[in-house]
Amino acid sequence: MTRSEHIRALLEEYARQRAADEQDLNDRVAQAISAAPEIGELREKSANLALNAMRSILNRQNQQERIALAADMKRQGREINAKIRALLRENGLPEDALEPRYRCGVCRDTGYVGDAPARFCECFEARLRLRMYEDGSMARTDEQNFEQFDAGRIPEENGQRDQMISTRAMCEAYADHFPDGKYRNLLLTGAGGLGKTFLLNCIFERVTRRGFSAVRITAFRMFEAMRQQHVGNDEKFDGFSTLIEVPLLLIDDLGTEPMMRNITIEYLFTLLNERIAARRHTVIATNLTPAQMKERYGERVASRLLDRSLWGAVQLKGKDLRSL
Ligand SMILES: [Zn+2]
Repeated sequence: MTRSEHIRALLEEYARQRAADEQDLNDRVAQAISAAPEIGELREKSANLALNAMRSILNRQNQQERIALAADMKRQGREINAKIRALLRENGLPEDALEPRYRCGVCRDTGYVGDAPARFCECFEARLRLRMYEDGSMARTDEQNFEQFDAGRIPEENGQRDQMISTRAMCEAYADHFPDGKYRNLLLTGAGGLGKTFLLNCIFERVTRRGFSAVRITAFRMFEAMRQQHVGNDEKFDGFSTLIEVPLLLIDDLGTEPMMRNITIEYLFTLLNERIAARRHTVIATNLTPAQMKERYGERVASRLLDRSLWGAVQLKGKDLRSL
């Protein structure tokens, strides 16, 4: 993808995010009104007040009168808002329950800041860098998503098909309920060709389509970000810090990255540790067995990866689907 294609795709993501923001606000308004119907009447009153005040202000010639009317309207507006806030409190809802909530308060999820010439918001630039950083060899999400899942392609023998169907359901539930699902993190293990990468791509596609921010990266690219950070290039690229901060990080093929002294194990530990401490979400696909994880990364990293209280784990078994 070229830079302008990335920009176009990202603008679409932002449009979806704004739609999700709006839906979220509508849901909260509906919830508040069903808890306290009076809130609905007050909101209507507030909207009418603004409209009527605007009309009557425009009808007045006298400047004094206009100022007085505007002040009166403001006072009434404040009174209505205070009543609404009180009703929200009484019903156990937060006072800001009827305010829009943005992923980025700076650009209000438009991706732009400033008047003409508007420029991209910092959040947009950071996402753009990440998109361009993503491995070009990764599947396009219009090719790998839950809708494309075809159980018929998977051999029935030895329960392989059943396992894949249940794993798909688990991954789909994870993506649909993100960030509040049963598991905070997912670890998909098993030999190559069993569909781990496909599932990881499906989760990525669904979560980003729902408007959440996620980064998917191959372990090889992740290593590149670590190395850049290590040699002090991160300011230019800000790859590693974004890997720590993104709400959902999906790492494909853990175990295929180079092992470099003072880098791989140390930075992987930092990455996992920081993400776990901040309760961020991580999905990892790997061919490594638990024993291989211990051997490759040592106890400290392995204990983070193998802690069953932190990860929903699936070990896929069966025939290599690529050879069928
Ligand atoms: Zn922004």
